[in-house]
Amino acid sequence: MAGTLLSIGECMVELMQAEGGMLRKGYAGDTFNTAYYARLFLPSDWSVDYFTAVGTDTVSAEMLAFIESKNIGTAHICRNEDRIPGLYMIHLKDGERSFSYWRSASAAKLLADDPDRLRAAIETADLVFFSGITLAILSSNAVETLRSELRRARASGKRVVFDPNIRPRLWEHLAQMRAVLEAGARAANMVLPSFDDEATHFGDGTVSATIDRYRALGVEDIAVKDGANGVTVDLAGKERVHVPALPVPVVIDTTSAGDSFNGAFLARLAAGDSHADAAAFAVRVAAAVISRHGALIARDKLPATVL
Ligand code: ADP
Repeated sequence: MAGTLLSIGECMVELMQAEGGMLRKGYAGDTFNTAYYARLFLPSDWSVDYFTAVGTDTVSAEMLAFIESKNIGTAHICRNEDRIPGLYMIHLKDGERSFSYWRSASAAKLLADDPDRLRAAIETADLVFFSGITLAILSSNAVETLRSELRRARASGKRVVFDPNIRPRLWEHLAQMRAVLEAGARAANMVLPSFDDEATHFGDGTVSATIDRYRALGVEDIAVKDGANGVTVDLAGKERVHVPALPVPVVIDTTSAGDSFNGAFLARLAAGDSHADAAAFAVRVAAAVISRHGALIARDKLPATVL
């Protein structure tokens, strides 16, 4: 059955070291990466839209053209003439990556400032995706606007999916971070957390503890990603399945492991797969993605065994 996925968050300009001291420009961000992988694997009668705010400058126009070149719609994206997109730089030293960010005044921070626009975009969607990074960049008023629109979407029968994607550096206070992430989860009927982050910031001792915590917040379906241990999917407390990771001989770059999992998982669920089959597929996609450099791997660079 045809449908629309709407992913809400921040896409940034990415600068990466290239040959001879040059910098290569790209565009990435967790919710955009998830939209990218969802688009790769969704049936062709599904559309994917990205929701964010950008500026009216050249780099914003280039970003929109890039998003569209990946067959992701930009019709709902707000333009703000006083802002420009956030930017980050990837440094590579002895095979280790580190990041510098310039995003504190990015246009995306204003994405939920126009509730009518947000509502209109969400109304077109069947499946809505957002993350803890989406919440982290917004003002507290904007978080409330987004949450109330998402709760409304959930109540009207849409699938609302949240990846807590915990980034403590984006939050002023850790207690506030935990409270807002929990409030975000309450607006969702599906949550896709990463166990490492949940254990560090919520003190979960086991994957089951993470599942129980989100279930207590009213989330129905929970898939806990756990790196090389794979993923555990729990459906409304009635059915639980563990899908092992696909062993990766050499991990090249773990950027987008979780995002590619999310996109592939949601795409296969939308196509009608069972949760176990969708997770098994997504685990293969994530394994292929971390076997290559970069966040957004082209479809023809993924091994045939994945597809
Ligand atoms: P995140 O990137 O959000 O921290 P994880 O590290 O849990 O998420 O990874 C997401 C998924 O990617 C895992 O569920 C697993 O399927 C796959 N994955 C991650 N690391 C590895 C690894 N070392 N070997 C094989 N698969 C992995």
